[in-house]
Amino acid sequence: MTPTSPSRELIGFFQAELAELPECEAAPADLAALCEAVHEQNQRANVTAARSPLEIAREHVLDALTLIPAIRERLPECDTPQLIDVGAGGGFPGLPLALALPQLRVTLLDSIEKKCRAARAAADAVPALAESGCVEVIRGRAEDWAREDGHREQYDFATARAVGACATQAELTLPFLRIGGWLLLQKGAAAAQEIESATGAIEILGGRLEFVQTIERSGQLAPRLLAGVRKAAHTPEKYPRRSGLPSKRPL
Ligand code: SAM
Repeated sequence: MTPTSPSRELIGFFQAELAELPECEAAPADLAALCEAVHEQNQRANVTAARSPLEIAREHVLDALTLIPAIRERLPECDTPQLIDVGAGGGFPGLPLALALPQLRVTLLDSIEKKCRAARAAADAVPALAESGCVEVIRGRAEDWAREDGHREQYDFATARAVGACATQAELTLPFLRIGGWLLLQKGAAAAQEIESATGAIEILGGRLEFVQTIERSGQLAPRLLAGVRKAAHTPEKYPRRSGLPSKRPL
């Protein structure tokens, strides 16, 4: 895969943003290269609505980087920290997190082949990601992969941005987490009630809602909520239910 060269404007954008984010270990040029690579893939495969590298930077990369403090704070609890990004689409939030936290191994899971191909190609086009080999991309449904030995209750962190309502996200992710692992749910500012009403489902799945924080974002972007769910007990064997049910009939 040919490495993508980022524009000076985009590198400058990240230089300015990262000044406010000292916990991010990514080089501005690598984040900028990621935006260019995702944009290039998007032109072929149409995996995100963002239409320019700068839009990808603002709406997807910066949004992913808001997860850094919550993950970094918990890294000391992990041996070899592993994150699964369920329904990662073109690679968000997983790919920026792999650059920002180089100690993290990141698995991107999506059911759509073209999205997985685009995410793989974007990761391969950014030398810092391609050389570290820290990103794995797998295609398939969470309902199936969460039953596989190498994946069930293996991960320290899970994300599932824009993959349905909280109860659906919980059923598709909590089975992947080891006890003590964390599900980090990024939600819109109006989702407080949705989060609250998913606490029953979260508990059925072995999780416990530990915090809900408001996350301020730079530029004109609206604040978001971040919900942190700790895996407190094993997920009962019957979850996740068969393919499609977690979204059609949330717990
Ligand atoms: N997380 C990415 C983002 O925020 O840009 C993509 C969000 S997109 C709206 C939702 C993605 O979840 C789609 O790519 C879809 O294929 C994937 N998805 C939905 N249900 C899934 C499941 N049960 N297993 C795996 N992927 C799923």
